[in-house]
Amino acid sequence: MSTKQKTVAVHAGSRLTGSKAIPVSPPIHPAAVNWFDSSDDLDAALDGKDYAYARISAPNTTLLETAVAALEGAEACVAYASGMAALRSLFEAQGFQRGDRLVMPADGYGVTRALYKNLCATLGVELHALDLADAAAPARVQALKPRLVLAESITNPLLRVPDLRALADASHAAGAAFAVDATFASPVGQRALEQGADYAVQSTSKWLNGHSDALGGTVSGSTARIAPLRAARVLAGDVLGPFEAWLTLRGLRTLPVRMKAHVEHAAHVARRLADSPLLERVIYPGLASHPDHAVAGRMLQGGHGPMVSFEIRGAARERCMRFLEALELCLPGPSLGDVGTLVMHAASASARRFTPQEREAAGIRENLIRVSVGLEDPDDVADDLLQAVAKAVRP
Ligand code: PLP
Repeated sequence: MSTKQKTVAVHAGSRLTGSKAIPVSPPIHPAAVNWFDSSDDLDAALDGKDYAYARISAPNTTLLETAVAALEGAEACVAYASGMAALRSLFEAQGFQRGDRLVMPADGYGVTRALYKNLCATLGVELHALDLADAAAPARVQALKPRLVLAESITNPLLRVPDLRALADASHAAGAAFAVDATFASPVGQRALEQGADYAVQSTSKWLNGHSDALGGTVSGSTARIAPLRAARVLAGDVLGPFEAWLTLRGLRTLPVRMKAHVEHAAHVARRLADSPLLERVIYPGLASHPDHAVAGRMLQGGHGPMVSFEIRGAARERCMRFLEALELCLPGPSLGDVGTLVMHAASASARRFTPQEREAAGIRENLIRVSVGLEDPDDVADDLLQAVAKAVRP
């Protein structure tokens, strides 16, 4: 190679030679473009058989997809720049026509509802928001004959647990594809594909990453279901970047041990909160008072989930804000799935994009707080939540 500095600066140090070492932690491959000694190899790479251009795919993205597919028990997985990008791609892969129907939860994530509402309005698709945890939901789904049914489990923020198997059977009998956004339970808490889903969706920004430092989303399913999503991703370009994929894979390595602790801690915090006279209602699928307690026992693996919600007795929005500001340990952050406890006022955050009527229909009240229980000592978490509630309700 030339020794001229301009040329050296561009080309030196671009190929590792002489090492047979295999790294225990995969290296980050930030290269957006790869070149090949052989034109045939480049040609094959452009067909997706190797890495040519990172919008098609990149090594770190493939490694993450392989790991998520294995956790979901799926043949294939495709990773996106965010959970919302995954949900958008799922919608677009269904080939909706004017007059088709889509079913989704009335009490699901508000941004998914807002996105699907827009997409349905543009295409002339009917959106039916149902209480999918209701025992009558499978029959309603079957009667509607939708093209796609999207369930959420555990729902955000009311923590309802629908009977996925019954919904899957009803969807399939109606000729619909059945997708489950299982972000709240993670693939460790809920094996949606084994429960009859055709697609399992994750916002990997939450439990899979686990450390609040990378956005991402995945859709997993059979090779035949995932192939069109992968092809569409090459065109749309909403692929997960290498560094985010690397961070998420690093977080995912500890997912089962983290989830076991998160779920145990959540159960403990729920039991402590359930004794407080300052709370109108404590919502946790593991409590006998939860409407889906029995279903959750069948649907969720390894406990009743890592999330707890509660309603502060008699509190309007201003008192809920006072509650968030009074927290001393837990963080008032609008997300979930972190190693630390994150606390959120549902009506102003996850359900912010609902209209007041949609919030009311979903049963999301102004005094509803959602907690993603972290790995701190659960008594410290419960103590902090209860002291902040006490300050918020003080006259
Ligand atoms: N699905 C659920 C259940 C969520 O709670 C969220 C985000 O909070 C998303 C999807 C969207 O994921 P992302 O923020 O990665 O786009």
